[in-house]
Amino acid sequence: MGSAATNLSTVSTKITSINPATGEPLGEVPDQTPAEVRAAVDAARIAQAEWAKVPIELRCKRVRRFAEVLMARADEVIELLSREGGKTRQEALGMEVIVVADLVRYFAKHAPAMLAPEPVPLHLMKHRASYLHFVPRGVVGIIAPWNFPFSIPIGEVVMSLIAGNGVVLKPSEVTPLIALKARELYLAADLPPELFQVVTGRGATGAALIDSGIDYCVFTGSVATGKKVAAACGERLIPCTLELGGKAPAVVCADADLDRTAQAITWGGFANSGQVCASVERVYAVDAVHDALVAKIVELARSLRQGDAAQEVDVGAMAWDRQVETVERLVDAAVAAGARVEAGGSRGPGPGLFFQPTVLTNCTQDMDVMRKEIFGPVIPIMRVADDDEAVRLANDSHLGLLAYVFTKDREHGKRVAERIAAGTVMVNDVLSTYACPETPWGGVKQSGIGRTHSIHGLRDLCETRHVNHDRVSLAREVWWYPYKQGTFRGLLRAAKLLFGKRPWQR
Ligand code: NDP
Repeated sequence: MGSAATNLSTVSTKITSINPATGEPLGEVPDQTPAEVRAAVDAARIAQAEWAKVPIELRCKRVRRFAEVLMARADEVIELLSREGGKTRQEALGMEVIVVADLVRYFAKHAPAMLAPEPVPLHLMKHRASYLHFVPRGVVGIIAPWNFPFSIPIGEVVMSLIAGNGVVLKPSEVTPLIALKARELYLAADLPPELFQVVTGRGATGAALIDSGIDYCVFTGSVATGKKVAAACGERLIPCTLELGGKAPAVVCADADLDRTAQAITWGGFANSGQVCASVERVYAVDAVHDALVAKIVELARSLRQGDAAQEVDVGAMAWDRQVETVERLVDAAVAAGARVEAGGSRGPGPGLFFQPTVLTNCTQDMDVMRKEIFGPVIPIMRVADDDEAVRLANDSHLGLLAYVFTKDREHGKRVAERIAAGTVMVNDVLSTYACPETPWGGVKQSGIGRTHSIHGLRDLCETRHVNHDRVSLAREVWWYPYKQGTFRGLLRAAKLLFGKRPWQR
């Protein structure tokens, strides 16, 4: 902290939210105590007991109203996202507001079918039948980061509510006002007031939420905090979804469409000032196209307009002063180790939190800029011999959230994609599957556990329970008491017939 444009004050009982582009204070929120957090969870639990009794079709209908209120008041949400998060108005609309509105409509339409009881065909015990049914978990605790302070937590809130849960959200201390705005819209949509609560505070408030009797935790944030959250959930045996850091590689094959590839990488590296868990964080370009690709990316990077999102700009402010320091440190270390700055390379003019859109070449795999999450507007590029080397280096990471492959040969692209260890690999595009609520979002390796979005994410917000019942009534099952020699011999004969070599194979 300490810089003029820090996004929060260090006062212990209040948190001041600040516009990162100007340093202007935007408002204060309380640093809530563990007792207040527990009270919020208790209140949500009481409301949830009634909400769970509402048929899912009706829940969906009521939650759909949230999207209507959101779109009617989109301008004020976009304005606050720009002022508190530093993001451009187009990013606030396209990467936050539209994503949530579409997610509401999608799950409001499809959740009843996704959560309908599901038969499990039994292959052997034909006289019985099984089915799964999906029961709300209770109160879901959602702990969110500052980079997408609306689309990440509010998408999870909507899915949790549709699944029949109550929700308590702890937003990042850097961006609390947008979470409170979301609750304001929720109340305006005439949804049960106590069912969805927002508790504001710092890390300790997030820790208190896990300790307040929640039934499930959805955490999005860094790997370091994710490990603490996983341990705290483990201690209480609460299941959790962990959406953690990324270090998305872009593999550029020799036959890539270089114009499209350069635009995709530039946008994928600089959108939201690079503060995206799915950002293009490292590029492996095969030798045959490396120089031409670099020239195109550099030209695009230099053409970008950076500044206060209140103006018409392409790249806004970064949200948090500590993140600017991290980016600066990683770039300086890479340059000291031999990386070449092709564009940008340093902080932008103050007082706001800006780092110039930066392109680095001559990067090597051992540099921190290629190994650690940058979470800022920096595209490090490395020359590789061929696709095999690119795939090997792409997989040489402790993270595995998103990855990208660029080639004109779609089938080749799919084959390369399948060799990369990541939760999602996109061919010839970047970032956009977060806006597809039907596709799963989540990582492998240290990028996380579980999935948000999709039928998988929705069902994770429920307990999957299994009912097994009789189809025909028998007096008794053959394997019940009393055990008899005859029954044993009969069972053995049947088992040999079923599982052993068939007579005609002997
Ligand atoms: P942090 O891990 O620092 O914080 C995330 C949230 O956890 C914040 O609300 C924070 O509160 C809270 N928190 C801090 N300490 C604790 C604790 N001990 N127990 C419970 N909660 C705690 O992440 P950032 O906010 O800095 O977000 C950036 C990170 O998030 C990046 O690594 C990025 O890759 C990742 N991310 C992952 C996504 C994905 O989908 N996989 C999407 C977006 C981001 P406070 O801020 O008040 O300290």
